[in-house]
Amino acid sequence: MVLRGGVLAGGRRADVAVDFELGVVLQVGTVEAQPGDHVEPVDGMVLLPAAAEPHAHLDKAFLAVGAPGALDSPGGDLAAAIAAMRASDAGRRADEVTRRAGRALRTLVAHGVTAVRTHVDVRSPFGVGNLRALAAVRQWVTATELADLQLVALVDTPLTGTAGAGNRRLLRSALDAGADVVGGCPYRDPDPRGATALLLQAAADAGVGVDLHTDETIDPKVLTVAELAMLVAERGPGAGATASHCVSLGMQPLAVQRRIAAGLAEAGVSVVTLPQTNLFLQGRQVPTAVPRGLTALPALLQAGVTVAGGSDNARDPFCSAGRLDPCETAALLVMAGHLAPAHAWHACSSAARVVMGLPAADLTPGSAADLVAIEGADLLDAVAGASERRVTVHRGRVVARTEVDRQVGTDPPFGAAPMVGAAR
Ligand SMILES: [Zn+2]
Repeated sequence: MVLRGGVLAGGRRADVAVDFELGVVLQVGTVEAQPGDHVEPVDGMVLLPAAAEPHAHLDKAFLAVGAPGALDSPGGDLAAAIAAMRASDAGRRADEVTRRAGRALRTLVAHGVTAVRTHVDVRSPFGVGNLRALAAVRQWVTATELADLQLVALVDTPLTGTAGAGNRRLLRSALDAGADVVGGCPYRDPDPRGATALLLQAAADAGVGVDLHTDETIDPKVLTVAELAMLVAERGPGAGATASHCVSLGMQPLAVQRRIAAGLAEAGVSVVTLPQTNLFLQGRQVPTAVPRGLTALPALLQAGVTVAGGSDNARDPFCSAGRLDPCETAALLVMAGHLAPAHAWHACSSAARVVMGLPAADLTPGSAADLVAIEGADLLDAVAGASERRVTVHRGRVVARTEVDRQVGTDPPFGAAPMVGAAR
């Protein structure tokens, strides 16, 4: 297949040839299509490495839609969102979870995402029911080659002591039911260090990685990420270790941020920052100079930690306004995280694939043929404009194509510049 007539991130015109049997990029530049090649026109579009979503909650997505009141916006913090979520448990059916998750996944793919890691609640009263529902979605997307999907068992707390026996049992059931990664919120356990060690051991026993919700609070006294770094340094990263959120790290003095960032880099622990949800949830009790809830991005990047950006929640009690769009995440990393646009897209694409243990898809010959074309003149225009006009390619095949029909009044007398892109 030849993607014909796009521009690269910097604005240079280029075609891209991909092999859909090998699933790799063959050539980037001026490409002559051969007889039998499928030619996909991408005029007026920017060709970028496909986005990857390193941290979603597909089992919760869209819960607030059509549920005015408790679920559309609890008007509170993380604890209020968790309470609203639990209050809505009764009557939830597996087929309803599957349908919402499928809708969320297709939304992500339409937006240019070809690999998704979703955390899935594993807790009473439904046990591994949500995980089984998501395993059915994974089976479907794998069979149809729509995207790569990884399931993280987001096991409840407590995990330690006699009170944690039930949750420890549920974690084992989740791994038996096909969870790809061990998750959890050890910072919410009465013994955070013990819970972290227990989750790392469960992951090692199962031969899978860990991806832990870490310090999702602006309380600087909660700082379990340092212990996670130490424990992983002692044991080695195994099949991959990721700390998601790390909100309170952003509240530390610079020297502490740098020390912990160096420890994470040394241990090989990646960090996922989730701007949508942490801007939504955190800081509601702070009336002035509200903290942003993002982690210590400059310190982490300077230390060489792999930092990925994810969208977390979308239209559920934890974030009522998420769009499941990597352009939204990247734009928030530009505006609230102060990353350069190219670095922001890197966090939402190549770095996210590193977190997920996937081969590079960076638009170079030989790399995985996962890419997205987004309407625009260059990377900044594509990310900031966030046009719905996109083409998503996974393993060398077009898996999503969205057209936009834009009609705005009549052409102005001073000349009609294009509404999006190519205005120079
Ligand atoms: Zn999360």
